[in-house]
Amino acid sequence: MLEVTALEQTRASAARASVATHCPYCAFQCGMYVQGSRENATVAGNASFPVNKGGLCVKGWTAPATLSHPDRLLSPLARDTDGTLVPVTWDEALTQVVEAFQRVQARYGRDAVGVFGGGSLTNEKAYLLGKFARVALGTSNIDYNGRFCMSSAAAASQKAFGLDRGLPFPLADISHAQVVLLLGSNIAETMPPMMQYIEAQRSNDGKLIVVDPRFSATARVAALHLGLTPGSDAALANGLLHILIRDGLIDRDYIRERTEDFDKVRAVAATYWPERVERLTGVPEAQLVQAAHMLGTATSAMILTARGVEQQSQGVNNTLAYINIALALGLVGRPYSGYGCLTGQGNGQGGREHGQKADQLPGYRKIDDPAARRHIAGVWGIEESELPGSGKSAYEMLDQLGKEDGVRALFVMGSNIAVSAPHATHIRERLKSLDMLVVADFFLSETAQLADVVLPATQWAEEEGTMTNLEGRVILRKRAFEPPPGVRSDADLLCDLAARLGKGRYFGYSRAEQIFAELCRASAGGIADYSGITYEKIQANHGVFWPCPSEDHPGTTRLFQEHFPTPTGKARFHAIRHLPPGETIDSEYPLYLTTGRVLAQYQSGTQTRRVEQLRSIMPEPLAEIHPVVARRYKLAHGDSVTLATRRGTATFTVKVTTDIREDTIFVPFHWSGNQSSNRLTNPALDPTSRMPEFKVCAVRIEPLVAR
Ligand code: SF4
Repeated sequence: MLEVTALEQTRASAARASVATHCPYCAFQCGMYVQGSRENATVAGNASFPVNKGGLCVKGWTAPATLSHPDRLLSPLARDTDGTLVPVTWDEALTQVVEAFQRVQARYGRDAVGVFGGGSLTNEKAYLLGKFARVALGTSNIDYNGRFCMSSAAAASQKAFGLDRGLPFPLADISHAQVVLLLGSNIAETMPPMMQYIEAQRSNDGKLIVVDPRFSATARVAALHLGLTPGSDAALANGLLHILIRDGLIDRDYIRERTEDFDKVRAVAATYWPERVERLTGVPEAQLVQAAHMLGTATSAMILTARGVEQQSQGVNNTLAYINIALALGLVGRPYSGYGCLTGQGNGQGGREHGQKADQLPGYRKIDDPAARRHIAGVWGIEESELPGSGKSAYEMLDQLGKEDGVRALFVMGSNIAVSAPHATHIRERLKSLDMLVVADFFLSETAQLADVVLPATQWAEEEGTMTNLEGRVILRKRAFEPPPGVRSDADLLCDLAARLGKGRYFGYSRAEQIFAELCRASAGGIADYSGITYEKIQANHGVFWPCPSEDHPGTTRLFQEHFPTPTGKARFHAIRHLPPGETIDSEYPLYLTTGRVLAQYQSGTQTRRVEQLRSIMPEPLAEIHPVVARRYKLAHGDSVTLATRRGTATFTVKVTTDIREDTIFVPFHWSGNQSSNRLTNPALDPTSRMPEFKVCAVRIEPLVAR
């Protein structure tokens, strides 16, 4: 069992007065002080932390409400003979888990046990989960919910730059960019403290361009809003590039010296003349020209993408098309300029670097690279031949659950896939078909409700560990409180399970810091090299940016200034053609559906739907419908409406608003049951990233109550 050392006890006591730690939610990872007791904790923004500079959003302010919430799981649960989840001892729970995993593997093979992680796990847990899957279980089937969030941007950045770090520059650079092109993100609601950089940019005479089918809270402060048709991003990007080339605004020296394959892109861009792009995207030609000229004449400019661009079956290509613009303008690696992806989940960045992806080993290494396999096997003390190969990606694993060749027993840690996966009704059925479902969580999430065994886990303020924020800054979450009795940390229970599986000698950690030290050794020489990072260094510097390859290295704040980590040292253009989304609208399903986040909720809502102050801001999901459509279907504000797609139906309350395109409906995805937008979404996958198409599908309205 992981011990709490005397030093940690001292830290925890001191922290009861006030502990400098970080918010449990999004990738901004705001610095905050936690004070009081676990039962009565309060938080305050940490003004000295350079990312949020004291700012917090309502989710951060109310984060302590989950610590002593009455729904908190305080004992392991298992099914009794009636099939009801009842409290059991830890020994009984873990014995059931181990026996089931061994039974399933003996009958169906090692890959029949799967592991599903999350982008909210600390780096230590993400690393340990990957090692647990491959060393303790010997399965190739491990993936995580980050496959649903950041995988398209990650794949695009690797293709173009040879490296994926969400932002290759610090957030502070945004304040000095003359133009920011923000695509598919509503940061005013999802990451409100980030708006201080946009406000500073505006004070410096900077301009913001927002591309979004919604006239969002962020779009309201923009100099220009392009309300594109969902699923038309690559056409828009190619259209902007066409104008930039036509009007002589590209940086020919940069293209010649720092990039390759521009000629192929120029040939494709030539076919995206403005009138055609206006037809494909719905964005008027004049606005296309205005946006292109704002970008092309700026002395510094940034292009930032997020889930609106990436969560599509063309997500990688969409992102590459926008990267093409950044390269053509010579932005990448230049001061206050470049391309970046705004990571969403709390540890969306670190969670994708250290081995909980099916095709990846720690340090952002590829699992099919012989040198990478030898290195990791050496760090783990096993033979390279014992290391499994690449497994199924997240949706592909979930789609096959319980089937003959699929995973028959699943271990889920830090994810609520019954709500967050696309085509959620189907995924619930697959989860129910498993021989054994084990869920580690701190609330009885919708996924935990389906489990055979539930393991109660510690929360953010009850354990130590590192996170990597959207800038690539590795930060330290500190323990402020003792966990409640009966609850164990994820790392602790993984080590216990590994010991019961006969692999305890590979999991002999007593502290999270030891796991981090091993993670750093495993990452040494990899793309995401953490080998020079320590807990002390993080605390002394408000975090350390990777790569940080040695103890005397300060970390790398800005990437790509001299060269790109590709074989030639140059960035790569990719010729991208616009392809329609997996579903286009027709007479049966005449509208587009797009989904996203709202201010007072986070991801599947397991935590935030339980916080009264957040529920009171938006107690239920609202379907945003344009007045023209509302009139056509005789719907009014506050009516109930059922939306139907080819996968199912869900029911929402109507919000009539001109902030959405006439051909599009927006619904948030944080709710479950018949209010779950993911009962509607399309699991069509991007061919490279395996990212499902959450952001666009065809939908029809079936009114229940009309005035
Ligand atoms: Fe900051 Fe994100 Fe937490 Fe809000 S949810 S306080 S933006 S880290």
